[in-house]
Amino acid sequence: MEQENNSIHDFDIALICEYFSYVERQGPGSPEVTIKALSFIDNLTQNAKIADIGCGTGGQTMVLAQNTPGTILGIDLFPKFVDIFNQNATKLGLTDKAKAIVGSMDNLPFQDEELDLMWSEGAIYNIGFERGLTEWRRFLKKGGYVAVTEASWFTPERPAEIEQFWLDAYPEIDTIPSKVAIMQKAGYIPVATFILPENCWTEHFYAPQVSAQKLFMEKYADNLNAKRLVENLQHEAQLYARYKDYYGYVFYIGKKM
Ligand code: SAM
Repeated sequence: MEQENNSIHDFDIALICEYFSYVERQGPGSPEVTIKALSFIDNLTQNAKIADIGCGTGGQTMVLAQNTPGTILGIDLFPKFVDIFNQNATKLGLTDKAKAIVGSMDNLPFQDEELDLMWSEGAIYNIGFERGLTEWRRFLKKGGYVAVTEASWFTPERPAEIEQFWLDAYPEIDTIPSKVAIMQKAGYIPVATFILPENCWTEHFYAPQVSAQKLFMEKYADNLNAKRLVENLQHEAQLYARYKDYYGYVFYIGKKM
């Protein structure tokens, strides 16, 4: 009998990448939220150096490039996302402000104290919130900022179904005060924390996936793994609709001490 896939981690990474290359964002977020997070960051100048770690196809990076001085280097593990990022930057006339390269967040190509701002929407979980904040800190100038989004619990307790789903998907999910304490311990002043509004999930993340799923299933009509991947993502969207009072993404903005 075929094995059931329970977690996104069970799927072929190439298939996941192709699926998410059909949509503008690979994680929850919105232009408004990127701009709101940016409003907590001061001291950026024309010479500012910014990194967007786990940039994906650059949905949020293009917004950053349009709303900050300085230059942004996007870094992502997947060449397909990096190619789409650079095509988007060209289309939007932003190549002098933003470009992406292939790289890994656990081996970043920066000098110590080179960066003014390290951005990462929906991606730090790949290395872990605590490890990412701790390891990335040395690349920031003193007084530089880190701004990341991270899956977080809103309540001290929650229903077993959603607790189990997240413990499988990302065991480091925790409450907002716990995450803030981790940020402080990693050597940052926690400057701001805010919950991403629901439309970051519904309108900007799940809704665009509906047409992507149609295209994907037309291309992979006979592929059982593709079918299961789509079912898995639909299940995730249903869980969000049911349990959105208990969890979501939170922006954590910290200043290097
Ligand atoms: N920041 C984008 C957004 O919000 O739309 C993408 C978020 S997506 C949920 C996570 C991203 O992290 C993917 O683009 C994935 O390729 C990238 N990623 C995964 N592991 C990585 C690693 N070790 N180093 C760099 N990027 C990685």
